[in-house]
Amino acid sequence: MPAIRVGEMEKEFEKIDLNRDAKIIIIGAGISGIAAADYLTRAGFTDFKILEASNRTGGRIYTVNVDNKGHKAELGANWIHGIERNPIYKIADDNNLLELRHGNKGLRHRNVFTTEEGDEPSEKVVDQVNLIYGRLIMQAEDFYQSSMPTLEENDSVGAFLEREYADYLERYTNGDRHIRELLFNQRKLLECCISGCDSLEDVALSEFGGYEELPGIHYTIPPGFEAVLEILKSKIPKDNILLNCPVKCIHWNKNSPNDEYEVKVECENGDVHYANHVIVTVSLGVLKAACDRMFSPSLPKEKLEAIERMGFGIVDKVIIEFEQPVTESDLFRVELLWDNEGIDKNDLRNTWYRKIYSFEVVHENVLVGWLSGKEALYMESLSEEQVGQDIVEVLKKFLKKKDIPQPKSVIRTRWGNNPYTRGSYSFVKVGACMGDILTLGEPLKGAGSQKPQVQFAGEATHECYYSTTHGALLSGLREAQRLVKLYS
Ligand SMILES: Cc1cc2nc3c(=O)[nH]c(=O)nc-3n(C[C@H](O)[C@H](O)[C@H](O)COP(=O)(O)OP(=O)(O)OC[C@H]3O[C@@H](n4cnc5c(N)ncnc54)[C@H](O)[C@@H]3O)c2cc1C
Repeated sequence: MPAIRVGEMEKEFEKIDLNRDAKIIIIGAGISGIAAADYLTRAGFTDFKILEASNRTGGRIYTVNVDNKGHKAELGANWIHGIERNPIYKIADDNNLLELRHGNKGLRHRNVFTTEEGDEPSEKVVDQVNLIYGRLIMQAEDFYQSSMPTLEENDSVGAFLEREYADYLERYTNGDRHIRELLFNQRKLLECCISGCDSLEDVALSEFGGYEELPGIHYTIPPGFEAVLEILKSKIPKDNILLNCPVKCIHWNKNSPNDEYEVKVECENGDVHYANHVIVTVSLGVLKAACDRMFSPSLPKEKLEAIERMGFGIVDKVIIEFEQPVTESDLFRVELLWDNEGIDKNDLRNTWYRKIYSFEVVHENVLVGWLSGKEALYMESLSEEQVGQDIVEVLKKFLKKKDIPQPKSVIRTRWGNNPYTRGSYSFVKVGACMGDILTLGEPLKGAGSQKPQVQFAGEATHECYYSTTHGALLSGLREAQRLVKLYS
């Protein structure tokens, strides 16, 4: 399917003349499902329903109030990644959601890198490491973009970075070398959160450059990411969205093609819905956990293999609110330079927080830290009180302050344990390839028919913007457009 450009959508609607309505079920009310429903509504379809398992819409877009001053925090999607051709940016900008974008930072502009002893490396060293690290990331992307063979068949981004950075480190000894090692490790922890993996050793080097970065800076949305969703939801009739409706099984490929509806959707609560087409938008994590029982007959072998090969990692956030600001008034981000020499990484109780790569001051009293992988999953098992206590000890060290009080509140995400997400976002794992993404998005057709019965959308199905909200949105449009073409 050719990609839809958001600016062209209105023109496209003028041309649409549906020859008949069809009964459509969308599974999941994340941004891909909502975008599909919005498109179908505007194209003139009326007979559709969204079945959402949880008690809210938004899925991995989840904005919460963080204090009593109206400040928001994002439990899921945080930034609009890039401006040009980004449909999320377009919606946010057209609806004035970005108006306050400079207001919330105030004077906070300073980023500091600090060691566990509270020492700060010189700006010159930080800049040097950032430069070399940035170059290595570009070289890693080049393998895909220039179709260059990798050194080994199953080479990983992590192994490549280690090899190349070791060459760079050769020039340095003692303290000069040590600080560059710490900075490198910090960059890798950040990259783990960007890629959504436990370790960069899990990320396929040959495919790394297949993810396309959109030009432009990264924006947060002051009224919250859910405001974008509300705009997309505004034209969808409310009764078409059914919450608390987990889907248990999709029965497709019926042998009686003359029946009115080709697909039967069975919900956990016993409800049954019939449809001509079903668009499945559940996360890759949910598919990994449940695809063997969610489809009858089962999915084709190629799709099952692609689901297994692709990566779906855990990225979590810890949001800490204090009574008073605990950082200096100009500080925006503290980048944590952990020294893991002699640390037993299997002792997760005493090491989980070493996966947090920075704390960002999102509001004057509120700090947010990100972490990924098995440490994130471990953190999910702790009480919020324990998480808060551990974080206070971390901050005491890195901010060189003994008097940091216990937090007023702690919110930590649990994306790994969320039964309707089972992780955070997808990546191309060692052993998988970009073709697997296309296979994931391939519709299922009934025997002897060219009509799609079960379609797949969601971030993990977008060929180059996987893992993002704009990828998810565009995948929903792609599948809605597939149906519009079929009926016009
Ligand atoms: C911590 C975190 C940070 C992120 N940061 C960013 C960022 O800064 N920028 C960015 O662009 N993206 C970011 N993302 C990724 C982005 O949030 C997702 O790519 C996007 O929201 C996915 O949308 P989706 O519609 O594909 O899936 P989802 O949002 O997961 O929607 C799928 C829906 O299906 C429902 N569902 C699941 N199982 C069933 C079932 N059996 N029956 C019925 N319904 C079911 C779920 O409840 C869910 O509502 C982040 C994600 C996380 C977790």
